[in-house]
Amino acid sequence: MASIPLPPPVALSTHKPSLHGLGFKRSSSSGARLASSLLVLKTENGRRRVRSSVCRASAVVFRDLDADDFRHPLDKQNTLILRAIPGLNDLGKALLGSVTEQIMLLENIGTLVLVSKNQLPDLHQLMVEAAQILNLEPPDLYVRQSPVPNAYTLAISGKKPFVVVHTSLVELLTQKELQAVLAHELGHLKCDHGVWLTFANILTLGAYSVPGLGGFIAQSLEDQLFRWLRAAEFTCDRAALLVAQDSKVVISVLMKLAGGSPSLADQLNADAFLEQARSYDKASSNPVGWYIRNAQTRQLSHPLPVLRAREIDDWSRSQEYKDLLRRAGQINNVQRV
Ligand SMILES: [Zn+2]
Repeated sequence: MASIPLPPPVALSTHKPSLHGLGFKRSSSSGARLASSLLVLKTENGRRRVRSSVCRASAVVFRDLDADDFRHPLDKQNTLILRAIPGLNDLGKALLGSVTEQIMLLENIGTLVLVSKNQLPDLHQLMVEAAQILNLEPPDLYVRQSPVPNAYTLAISGKKPFVVVHTSLVELLTQKELQAVLAHELGHLKCDHGVWLTFANILTLGAYSVPGLGGFIAQSLEDQLFRWLRAAEFTCDRAALLVAQDSKVVISVLMKLAGGSPSLADQLNADAFLEQARSYDKASSNPVGWYIRNAQTRQLSHPLPVLRAREIDDWSRSQEYKDLLRRAGQINNVQRV
């Protein structure tokens, strides 16, 4: 552990605006970067959105939910492959040991806003409800000042996990959409994506340049890691759906990440975005399209938003999803009697 040089605590605050937690490229500052002016955009009445009560009395709560109940088949498959690589897990844990955790904790407390009952209570309530619906303990939640709409989770097995949301994301999304994002991050915790997600997050954030890391991670392993990550994202979009219980909410989040802004919100159309997703499938179904599609996605830590939208729409119509809702409803009814 001591032989692995660690970055100074200041590193994360100067991170490059590459996206990980919610989507897009792993190493580029290009892409869906929103101008900071969006942060001050106002609604039609000239004021920022005023949050109403966030009570979700009508939501189905999954009291006995297990990660494997909603884990995407690709996630299952790729997790097995990663686990089979000797020494990988130990390397991850070594790189992300207690010192790293301490650095992150101090970074969070020192530079972000910690959400609680007394600090941004509506946001806190959204997190508490989402965690309740997914049957897990709510992690710490922080808000980071950033023009890049993003959210991410850092969790090291057995340690206190946390979720960070960026201010521009809060501005971009409705309350339900924001809760779906929190649920997506909770999905990573529920599925114990822990070490590998954190590993990838650190690489993606670009803040932690651990000397020698390139030597540790051969290209093939990196590809494998990112292939797994893309599968893990599909799983966590399912967690978002389990909380939102409306596929349009999750699709709208993906659409906004692809090209939303607060001033466009009123005219954005989730159905049209889904249609766009289907046309992408069609356009990439011939051999040339297939090749381009592969090249387009191989370097991504997240699947393309259109593919995620189509995937979650499919799952929302699946028997698996319907059975989960029905089973949870039955359990809730029994407990109410
Ligand atoms: Zn994610």
